[in-house]
Amino acid sequence: MPNAKTDGQQGVIEIETLLQLTRQKTELYGLLPNEMEQWVSELGQLKFRARQIYNWLYKKRVTTFDEMTDLPAAFREQLKEKAVIGTMKEVTRQTSRDGTVKLLLELHDGSTVETVLMRHNYGNSVCVSTQVGCRMGCTFCASTLGGLIRNLSAGEIVEQLMFFQRMLDAEGERVSSVVLMGSGEPLENYDAAMKFVDIITSPESVHIGARHITVSTSGLVPAIRRLADEQRQITLAISLHSPFDELRSSMMPINRAWNIEKLMDACRYYWNKTGRRLSFEYALIGGVNDDLRHARALADLLRGMPCHVNLIPVNYVPERNYQRTPKEQIRAFVNELQRLGVNATIRREMGHDIAAACGQLRAEQGRS
Ligand code: SF4
Repeated sequence: MPNAKTDGQQGVIEIETLLQLTRQKTELYGLLPNEMEQWVSELGQLKFRARQIYNWLYKKRVTTFDEMTDLPAAFREQLKEKAVIGTMKEVTRQTSRDGTVKLLLELHDGSTVETVLMRHNYGNSVCVSTQVGCRMGCTFCASTLGGLIRNLSAGEIVEQLMFFQRMLDAEGERVSSVVLMGSGEPLENYDAAMKFVDIITSPESVHIGARHITVSTSGLVPAIRRLADEQRQITLAISLHSPFDELRSSMMPINRAWNIEKLMDACRYYWNKTGRRLSFEYALIGGVNDDLRHARALADLLRGMPCHVNLIPVNYVPERNYQRTPKEQIRAFVNELQRLGVNATIRREMGHDIAAACGQLRAEQGRS
């Protein structure tokens, strides 16, 4: 008789079995309404069952099949066997004095991602991650410190939003806008990111208007052009951070593949195709990109392009030696942009008393 497994080995086998089971099951948050219909048909059910499931998932927001009380008991059992409602579990929750909530969520394979709820006077905004880690290597970002682990599925991105929607249900509120600005480069996980957009904009789902969704990119030019050709009504946010190629390449390695000129060409293409004003993100880093020379070059670069510049005073990342720009310098920078006709605002700092920068909470967990 073979030796009994040690506790550790047994644990590994159990986890692997669990993982296999999860993988074989259909992740319901990852299905579009028409895919849900197709899937229930394949289970031998009538198509209207798909609408019922969608209703339970997105309108009543249940998390177990037993709560889907208008489904026949036998079908509920079949669902338990064949499907899962989400695969993530909450590991850590941090709540800031300003109401910002940051969750660290564990995925079925043990990796973790962060997702954030921000409360604005115009509504509740959720920032989702699209990848575990990131390979883009931006020097001001904690998410990239361990490289890219893997892409998230559309269902895993939807589930992040649903964590917060269920939390908000207790207050009678809803998620009103979404930004794909957490860890990962969304346009590198294009299909899953766009499927996520399609799911959450669908009227059968949480029905968030496309104009309330912002996709942020570090500057993947071919994907920006693809997005333009699809003519979606979402907002595209470009992480720019410097008007100078040399500096931008040192901060964002992607600039070596697609420099500022190529990026701006793609942005103009996007504007021409969609008629949607672009948003440019500019992280102000003390002594690096925050003097008036940068503001003037930025204004030159953006002249004639309908856009908005978001200035983000950079958060302190322990692994990087970046300093915050002093308040008066931030004010001078924005004034100079405005004087030169650029529509610019300083992003309100949220969750400053928690690990609010992208990837910080996950990096902290890795350090502990
Ligand atoms: S800023 Fe975005 S693209 Fe750059 S490393 Fe961080 S997550 Fe990746």
